Amino acid sequence: MTRTHPDEPVFETHGPDGASLRCLICGAVNEVTTTELPSMAGYGNDTAARCDRCGSAETTDPIFGWHATPATWPRPGEQHQP
Ligand SMILES: [Zn+2]
Repeated sequence: MTRTHPDEPVFETHGPDGASLRCLICGAVNEVTTTELPSMAGYGNDTAARCDRCGSAETTDPIFGWHATPATWPRPGEQHQP
């Protein structure tokens, strides 16, 4: 899959109740770690959701807003393990 825009979402809700998060890059479900920290901007919070499997992330902060950082997957030179 060729991603045409760097800021496309990398996670989507998944499951009948939408309570799960699925990584659109590597397909992992519920392997997303979310963190929330007081922002270095001095107000508000920085939030981050990062896939434990491939490292793709979505982040938000009070200054720049939402941003996605898709990882390269599968990793170059690494065999995909089932
Ligand atoms: Zn992933």
